[in-house]
Amino acid sequence: MEHSVIFDERVFRVQKQRPTRIGIGSDLHRLENGGGFMLGGLFVESDFSVIAHSDGDVLLHALTDAILGALGEGDIGELFPDTKEENRNRPSSDFVKAAVEMMNRAGYRIGNVDAIINLEKPKLGSLKPEMKKSLASLLGVSPELVNVKAKTAEQTGAVGEGKAVSAEVAVLLFRRECENES
Ligand code: MG
Repeated sequence: MEHSVIFDERVFRVQKQRPTRIGIGSDLHRLENGGGFMLGGLFVESDFSVIAHSDGDVLLHALTDAILGALGEGDIGELFPDTKEENRNRPSSDFVKAAVEMMNRAGYRIGNVDAIINLEKPKLGSLKPEMKKSLASLLGVSPELVNVKAKTAEQTGAVGEGKAVSAEVAVLLFRRECENES
């Protein structure tokens, strides 16, 4: 028993010291009639609002989960339970900032981020450059390290029927001391 605990700790330490780590995150929220919603830290004008405990920013929730996943640190629900009153209407930028702080403490930096938003309307093409900048500034990196893709769902499923918005994010982290080697 004792040996396996020691072994687990060693494996964990070695994993933590890997030069790169990868993470994915996804999130979906339902939409209701309303006056717009937050997405990637920006307000999107729309005839819909997001149903959520926090501000319901699916892109920032997926980004937070991707970073936590890369660090092997669980998920956003463990860090910020939606049963806690303090998280009600909380700006999702707080969640990203907390994940970035954990990343910094673990000795990692952002390599790059690739994100997909699934939303039937409005079309987000014109917002994408601003969204890149918004994510980059939250992460403290240059916008070239962030890619944002927007897709519709061809009028099928919850997203396609305009009942939901969702996002997927992949993130690569690398150890800070490897920065000059890459
Ligand atoms: Mg969420």
